[in-house]
Amino acid sequence: MPTLYCLSLRLPFAVPAPADQQAGRFRVLPVRATTVLMAIAGSRFERGMNAVVGRVSRVRWFRALLLHPVVARPGYWFATLCGLIWGAVLSLGRIRPQGGVIVARKCPRWAFGRGGTTIGAVFLTRDALSAGILAHEAVHRAQWKRYGLALIPLYIAAGRNGLTNRFEIEAGLERGGYIR
Ligand SMILES: [Zn+2]
Repeated sequence: MPTLYCLSLRLPFAVPAPADQQAGRFRVLPVRATTVLMAIAGSRFERGMNAVVGRVSRVRWFRALLLHPVVARPGYWFATLCGLIWGAVLSLGRIRPQGGVIVARKCPRWAFGRGGTTIGAVFLTRDALSAGILAHEAVHRAQWKRYGLALIPLYIAAGRNGLTNRFEIEAGLERGGYIR
């Protein structure tokens, strides 16, 4: 079929022949390419954020200002408001306090990373509600409270690898599901 042939020339991975499709070859290749690209972009972003955080934290008065409760606390409230709105839109369950956080349960999986994500005081999850996970997320809530919106660049600069990310280590790797 000419159309298919043209397409397959332009997009060799997108138009698999039935045999290849069965073998799963075309699924594997683009996924790997995407993963690699995302890892490169991600680590660049991480390095960039690290540089910014490093530069900012060297300016003492600015760092003190950003982390002062008068600045950090409204950031935490704002993050909590965002978490509540996000939860109200996505959650199919009741939003209520539990285990030191405000839980927005039954959220779709694409709405958060891993088992769930804490934004301000709000923990968005589908069904990760064990005592250990909630205790882990309560520490993240305390981090939001301490750092305010500065937690976002600080967390990114700390790296995507949970095992070495200082905020995840502080929250507890085991109860956060990073190690068993
Ligand atoms: Zn965590």
